[in-house]
Amino acid sequence: MSFSALGLDPKILQAVQEAGYTEPTPIQTQAIPQILAGHDLIGIAQTGTGKTAAFTLPMLTKLAAQPAGQRRGTRVLVIAPTRELVLQIEENIRVYAKHLPLTVATVFGGVGEQPQIRALRAATDVVIACPGRLMDLMQRRYADFSQLQYLVLDEADRMLDMGFLPSIRQIVRSLPQKRQTLMFSASLSKEIESLTHEFQRSPKIVQIGRRANPAETVTQLIYEVPKHLKPALLLHLLRDPAMNMVLVFSRMKHAADRVARNLEQSGIKTATLHSNRSQNQRLKALKDFKSGAVRVLVATDIAARGIDVDGISHVVNYDFP
Ligand code: AMP
Repeated sequence: MSFSALGLDPKILQAVQEAGYTEPTPIQTQAIPQILAGHDLIGIAQTGTGKTAAFTLPMLTKLAAQPAGQRRGTRVLVIAPTRELVLQIEENIRVYAKHLPLTVATVFGGVGEQPQIRALRAATDVVIACPGRLMDLMQRRYADFSQLQYLVLDEADRMLDMGFLPSIRQIVRSLPQKRQTLMFSASLSKEIESLTHEFQRSPKIVQIGRRANPAETVTQLIYEVPKHLKPALLLHLLRDPAMNMVLVFSRMKHAADRVARNLEQSGIKTATLHSNRSQNQRLKALKDFKSGAVRVLVATDIAARGIDVDGISHVVNYDFP
């Protein structure tokens, strides 16, 4: 299957080609025709499967086909659990939409709201948002979603885990009924099913082989060690230069800080990622990790979920997952 057989807009095909994609991933092959045909969709897929392009490419194709006169108002709303994920989705959408005259904006907490309010008022075509800040701005009547055509709930299971259901309900209640709703989740739980009944109409389901097993390219090791020796063991392991881009998961925020401090004191450049850190600190941590400026990123699972970073050499589960 090639991208050109999927019925996408030529300008989007061009952008996809320039991004270096040669063929669609399985979720793209399955989801794109369903979305183009106007169906609501449940996509059971994890980050890394290409799900962002799976929902973005057909939506952009449909937006591009609308006559200029209709191009007023926010037509796409993507809701995602974390600021990092919102920014990652934005980055992707900008790549795919680069030959189209569409505007894109993000809405999330921890940063100034004025630019976001301006973007909402300017009827930005595509808005990507975290539930909390979006609901806040909607309650204060800064957002006009009366022209909305597409709603995407990304990482829906994670949003439920994080307690966003009441906000999401409130947001969705004020959106036009006549819309296409796409929902993505890593797994299909009872809660997700009831959410689809609430928000979707006869959705099609696309499921991409949930990996019960880790990828075959991953080797797993377990070290049994008393708790007080964990810091020393981590330092010992990090003597191996092959551990050059290491993601350490810790369960608690303060434990993450402690691990990072310990590594820094031993001369290992380390950044931390968790929800007690400011938005700028979090963005800098990710940037430094991606660029190689720091060798280790210590993160809480919840903060790092859905983050797509190339070239990670090792993942350490500091606490038993
Ligand atoms: P996602 O699951 O949406 O987070 O995507 C994971 C990564 O795969 C992103 O870095 C995308 O740029 C990349 N990607 C998405 N679709 C394709 C494709 N068809 N071919 C190659 N890479 C892709």
